[in-house]
Amino acid sequence: MKNNKAIYPGTFDPITNGHIDIIERAASLFDQVIVAVAQNAAKNPVFELETRVELAQQALNHLKHVQVIGFSGLLIDFAVAHHANIIIRGLRAVSDFEYEFQLAGMNRKLNPQIESIFLTPSEHYTYLSSTLVREIAAFNGDVSPFAPSCVVEALRSLKS
Ligand code: ADP
Repeated sequence: MKNNKAIYPGTFDPITNGHIDIIERAASLFDQVIVAVAQNAAKNPVFELETRVELAQQALNHLKHVQVIGFSGLLIDFAVAHHANIIIRGLRAVSDFEYEFQLAGMNRKLNPQIESIFLTPSEHYTYLSSTLVREIAAFNGDVSPFAPSCVVEALRSLKS
């Protein structure tokens, strides 16, 4: 049987329960999963890359065969360097589809050996995004239903 190694790339600014839902699903399907935290300077992330990696590592501690690694540069190059053959992306709603479809097409053009696979989260995470979690926290809202405790703590200390 083929040894499937999947990469789940994103900005994870910060990791949410929606991301974790997708990673748990991926971990049950593939032999190894790398959560690839993109530097993504263009998006002006609120958390530094090292913090985003650390938070994801803490939040995913319970999952075997899941590794968290930070990266900058082209995703396809990162995938080849880590011998991954699958890219995972999460689809929340139809609105995600157009961008994800374009990205998958471009990644296939860049490297036809690497397949993009889309997973959907449990329905109560379909409205969840890192941006919303940050915004709720900025206005002192309770984000504990949406993010792991280490992230709730990190968002709190952002303000102090
Ligand atoms: P990016 O900047 O690459 O979109 P994100 O961290 O925002 O990075 O998201 C990474 C991946 O996780 C994307 O495929 C995104 O659609 C997906 N994702 C984000 N939030 C959720 C969620 N609540 N449920 C399912 N997938 C999600």
